[in-house]
Amino acid sequence: MPFLSLSFTNYRNLEDKAIDLLANEVFFIGENGQGKSNLLEALYISAYGSSFRTRIENEIVKNNHTDYSIRALYKQSNEKTDSINVTWKSGKKQIRKNAKIIKDRKEIINTIPCVLFSHDDLDFAIGAPERRRFFIDQSLSMYDILYVDITRKYNKILKSRNSILKNENADLQMLSVYDSELIQTGIQIVKKRNAAILQFNTIYPHLYEEITGIKNVSIKYDSSWKNKSESEINDLLISKREVDKVMHTTMSGPHRDRIKFIKDKKPFISTASTGQQRLAALLLRICQAIHYSEITNKKPVLLMDDVLLELDPDKRQKITALLPEYDQLFCTFLPGEPYERYKHSETRIYTIEEGMWNEVTSGL
Ligand code: ATP
Ligand code: MG
Repeated sequence: MPFLSLSFTNYRNLEDKAIDLLANEVFFIGENGQGKSNLLEALYISAYGSSFRTRIENEIVKNNHTDYSIRALYKQSNEKTDSINVTWKSGKKQIRKNAKIIKDRKEIINTIPCVLFSHDDLDFAIGAPERRRFFIDQSLSMYDILYVDITRKYNKILKSRNSILKNENADLQMLSVYDSELIQTGIQIVKKRNAAILQFNTIYPHLYEEITGIKNVSIKYDSSWKNKSESEINDLLISKREVDKVMHTTMSGPHRDRIKFIKDKKPFISTASTGQQRLAALLLRICQAIHYSEITNKKPVLLMDDVLLELDPDKRQKITALLPEYDQLFCTFLPGEPYERYKHSETRIYTIEEGMWNEVTSGL
């Protein structure tokens, strides 16, 4: 059971206090704007060292303050209690695991594997291609530190290559310096994305059919470099140099990969209803959690932000039945929702009002 408690100092609208989270399921119930998502965000920050809502740390600091800190206590599988401290002070972020300063966020990957379900996930279905690349990258980064290293390296080389393309007077021969490294790292990205999507496709179509009755909805990976060999990619990069120069950017590579939803080999999202699009994204998250468990043999922590809200009762029931085994589940609800239906005897329920919480102990 990973999270035992969270405590805050000057964090968003939440009170400077500790909240006890020792339970398999924790529900946060409150009207709009009371602090439910802020609590999920704090859990996410403790797991990954950064927010899913913003990159601007000062937005997270409580109004009229300059610093914030979050401290999470969690239990490892060996029953040891550890802590993660995330502080933002004097414009600097510091993450500490127990007493040790974490220099790179990748050091805490796989520590508390959280899968976040949120409204914004709809973007994975209807948003720009980069949102789907982000999703696949995030899925891989949850357990594969090498993937984090490779993508960082690729992005660095790409940036250098693009800076030459932006320079009007640059000698295009200089691109050769970067091309071989771009190809080496890029091919590894393609390989790993391909393997992950293959595995997603052993899960996803079944989930989609189970919930909607629609068969054969799967995920297609269209790699920008197709299945080309190293030398073929090299030739491609050379042949496209003039175009790249005109466009001031590298026009092919994993940063241009496409990930699509297809049904019977045809694009699915463009003809899907709004509800079907929403489910396409929601089930992608469930798939991410199942994929993580299959690869690591570990159970994730699920953070579900208003997810059940938009579903009809039948689909809600089916979705809850499809959730993978989790180590812990955090779920937000509005007061009018039938959350009692989803609680178990040990579920902890907190009501949230103006950043303060109260545990509901009986009468539900
Ligand atoms: P909803 O049901 O609408 O999603 P919620 O309970 O999830 O609502 P949150 O997003 O958790 O709401 O909290 C939003 C509240 O937090 C707002 O009232 C907002 O003004 C407040 N808030 C956000 N950032 C800060 C901050 N830096 N300082 C103080 N208050 C903040
Ligand atoms: Mg919210």
